[in-house]
Amino acid sequence: MSRRVRSGVTDVVVVGGGIVGAAAALGMAQQGLSVKLVEPRRPPPWDATSAPDLRVYAISPASQSLFEQLGVWSAIQSRRAQAYRHMEVWDAVAGRPMRLSAQEDGREVLGHIVESRLILDALWAALEGSDVRQRLGASAVALSVDSDSLLRRLQLSDGETITTRLVVSAEGANSPLRRAQGIATQGRDYAQQGVVCFVETESDHADTAWQRFLPTGPLAFLPFGERRCSIVWTLPTPEATRVCRLPPAAFESELERAFDTRLGRIRLCSERVGFPLRMQLAERMVEGPLVLMGDAAHAVHPLAGQGVNLGLADVSEWLACVAAARTQQLAVPGSRGLARYARRRRSDSWWAAQTFDAIERIYSAPQLFPSLLRGHAFSLVSASAWLRRQVIGHASGQFPRVKNPSHGMTCTL
Ligand SMILES: Cc1cc2nc3c(=O)[nH]c(=O)nc-3n(C[C@H](O)[C@H](O)[C@H](O)COP(=O)(O)OP(=O)(O)OC[C@H]3O[C@@H](n4cnc5c(N)ncnc54)[C@H](O)[C@@H]3O)c2cc1C
Repeated sequence: MSRRVRSGVTDVVVVGGGIVGAAAALGMAQQGLSVKLVEPRRPPPWDATSAPDLRVYAISPASQSLFEQLGVWSAIQSRRAQAYRHMEVWDAVAGRPMRLSAQEDGREVLGHIVESRLILDALWAALEGSDVRQRLGASAVALSVDSDSLLRRLQLSDGETITTRLVVSAEGANSPLRRAQGIATQGRDYAQQGVVCFVETESDHADTAWQRFLPTGPLAFLPFGERRCSIVWTLPTPEATRVCRLPPAAFESELERAFDTRLGRIRLCSERVGFPLRMQLAERMVEGPLVLMGDAAHAVHPLAGQGVNLGLADVSEWLACVAAARTQQLAVPGSRGLARYARRRRSDSWWAAQTFDAIERIYSAPQLFPSLLRGHAFSLVSASAWLRRQVIGHASGQFPRVKNPSHGMTCTL
């Protein structure tokens, strides 16, 4: 890509102002790029007096570092972020519970549970004080390359065309631009939903993220305030629909049983919503004029709570590519930078998606052999300090590099 020679040309257009797109736009503007952000609607502001957003994320220390770098972490942490220091995971059929603590790996926390709306609010407030130009009220519909100038032309739904050097799609799992560029996806529909709601618990959550693996899918209790947890209950779709419709008292007693009454009696304190779950991986992260980030590139099973963390890891890698391009006097990453981004992030997300998928398959298998295997796996991890640290590192968003046989390239676990 040529040096910054043209005025009036936007360096990068980010399409999609969810957490991933907003973070990418902000980070690039902070590095001095001219950036436009296309998003149909500004996200609703976060308000401390209103009910918490049902969608909460387990934000890893790696994602926290990115938010610190972007200057938004204090606005998130000082409002409603719940640190968790321990994880307890157990199998409804086999083995003893496995308890992991941040302390074991010299860390203060394993992560923070934060509402999606709060993160969006902090990012959008920062965008409003930045040089990012927002293009609200329209969506991107088509993308082409001018064969003379090699600049990209992005067409919006209201007829405007934006000329730019690069386009980032952070449009979420249904990314229209990904489809328009002919990037195929692979994956599978889990035929499950993640039922989310808030509950009050009789016993204190002890700053612990709890997860019980049931034959129907994992059930997570994420600490969120005093004696309050956000739950993600993965169930086959008809079961998810059924539990969402139960009267509160019946729901509470089914949930207590499913959670092995680990935190005593439970009281439902919000509405219940079920999100359909699927694994989806784009076959390429970069295609000609388009760079994919976040769910547009990869959607994963929520059992490890890593979906948005993977998207934020895309942003971190991309910002490193942008910084490298800037040291070479390039306006935006050139073909080598784009290839490096695509290689690294495709490998990471491929590996993460396959790992979560394998865990989901092993845990949903009702036969005796997988149950015994699970019991052994739990005992093995519990007994090995090294394995325990690997699990903690993984939960914290730090992945060791390994060789990915399907791509013949280095990737991260
Ligand atoms: C039940 C459940 C629980 C989850 N729990 C966790 C968890 O604990 N931890 C975790 O890390 N992740 C979790 N996830 C995953 C997480 O929700 C996603 O990974 C995350 O929202 C992806 O962010 P994104 O910015 O890539 O996409 P999105 O949040 O989908 O944002 C996409 C944005 O693009 C805009 N857009 C779309 N098309 C266009 C267009 N053509 N033009 C302009 N704008 C466009 C949309 O309006 C939207 O604002 C969970 C998911 C589910 C379903």
